[in-house]
Amino acid sequence: MKDEAMTPLRIVIAGGGTAGWMAAAAIARSMGRTVDLTLVESEQIGTIGVGESTIPPLVGYNRLLGINEAEFMRETSATFKLGIMFDNWKDVGESYFHSFGMTGKDHWSAGFQHFWLHGLTKGHAQSYDDYCLELIAAREGKFAHLPGDQANYAYHLDSGLYAKFLRRMAEADGAKRVEGKIGSVNLNPESGDIASLTLDAGQKIEGDLFVDCTGFRALLIEGALHVGYDDWTHYLPCDSAIAIQTESVGLPVPFTRAMAHDAGWQWRIPLQHRVGNGIVYCSRYLDKDAALERLLGNIEGKTLVQPNFLRFAAGARRKQWHKNCVAVGLSGGFMEPLESTSIHLIQRAVIRLIRMMPGGKVSARDIAEFNDQQFQDMEQIRDFLILHYKATNRRDSPFWRQCASMEIPDSLAQKIELFRETGRVFRRNEELFAENSWVQVMMGQGIMPQSYHPVAAKLTDDELIKLLALLRDNVAKSVASMPRHGDYVAQYCGVK
Ligand code: FAD
Repeated sequence: MKDEAMTPLRIVIAGGGTAGWMAAAAIARSMGRTVDLTLVESEQIGTIGVGESTIPPLVGYNRLLGINEAEFMRETSATFKLGIMFDNWKDVGESYFHSFGMTGKDHWSAGFQHFWLHGLTKGHAQSYDDYCLELIAAREGKFAHLPGDQANYAYHLDSGLYAKFLRRMAEADGAKRVEGKIGSVNLNPESGDIASLTLDAGQKIEGDLFVDCTGFRALLIEGALHVGYDDWTHYLPCDSAIAIQTESVGLPVPFTRAMAHDAGWQWRIPLQHRVGNGIVYCSRYLDKDAALERLLGNIEGKTLVQPNFLRFAAGARRKQWHKNCVAVGLSGGFMEPLESTSIHLIQRAVIRLIRMMPGGKVSARDIAEFNDQQFQDMEQIRDFLILHYKATNRRDSPFWRQCASMEIPDSLAQKIELFRETGRVFRRNEELFAENSWVQVMMGQGIMPQSYHPVAAKLTDDELIKLLALLRDNVAKSVASMPRHGDYVAQYCGVK
């Protein structure tokens, strides 16, 4: 066997947004001198400038990179996030939480929802929310690191500052940064692989493996390799957004807000120094001016920047890895930020790429495996997002009527109907959103199971009452011991 690993693999990352620098930092740190890493970015083009709400696996990603959490939070103005509060999704005027925690205590044969449903029919159970630590802490605006990572959390962060933070790490670990605009992508005429990038200033950057992090432009994977795009807008019809930042009003809460309106929804994401706001909407039912007016009419605090107008089409590149080019971030596809999954998909792609890093020649088997795994992630997330639109009582606008009547993937229909009939939900193939998430969102959107697992009835009334009370008390006691989230962040990060 030829020892190709002795020659450093030349990796070129095109683009330096969140995707580019997340890839650079992880590759530089994990691969060390086995790679020769270059990142090209253009300040003139800039980054998309949104992406502030994350999900718990990012905590693990940062730990993997050896990042000190308090320092990272200070540098990125981050706050803690325990979940998302959904307003007006099931019906106008109704709210629910999708929190990151476990609710109650599962039995190996049946999830907690079955015991809770049994308790409900007997008149012993209280709100399903009361059995989830993260949910109650979020609602009360509290946070603390609990022993044994008991509370599952993520961050709200300034993604531009996160990219800068990672850039410092990547450069310290040997990544080279080149400033300049990529003018052309040059292919090897025989293999069809990417051979090099030529910058407008004339510099040519050659490589063995190219990571396309050029955002919606997808300069390499689409512009040069034309892999095509699977359009999912028939499932996720929102195609526009406007983002704006405002001054903080009061202490930051440890949750994202997703407030539905008659043609989409609006987000509110509290950071340490400001609040991120944005409206996501379907341009078929709401025009740009009306969307801006609605957004401005529903924000608190002084605006800090001009509105950022964005257009997108939900979907995924047909190949995430093709030839010697891997798409990471928006170049690989996009689904609206309803469950804050884009940065997570970057993380998944980067880790996957590192695990399948070529030792020389790129293997077609690795490419096929990477594409399968990446697609599975995206389709599972897509189904979870569609659930929020499909399972609704709202019929008050053409947008919601379209959502309620749309065809959905069979995989999702099976999940919804199984839960409705039996209260069961199963996590398949390491799905990102586990049973707890599905149960919270399905019940939050108004799907109540018609029956539950018979094992729940094995408890006597007395045992059931005691179990439910104990679980509720444990949650209430833990939350009572937590400080206010804003105070905790300030103390933890050492900021005044
Ligand atoms: P970009 O930030 O667009 O970076 C592209 C890079 O490529 C830039 O450095 C640019 O300069 C460079 N580039 C492009 N063309 C060239 C060229 N010709 N030459 C040289 N360089 C070039 N994600 C979440 O996880 N949570 C959220 O809450 C969230 N909210 C979002 C809200 C909206 C409305 C949108 C649209 C997205 C949101 N996202 C969110 C997604 C998130 O913003 C992105 O996943 C993330 O920022 C990564 O973007 P990127 O690095 O792929 O692209």
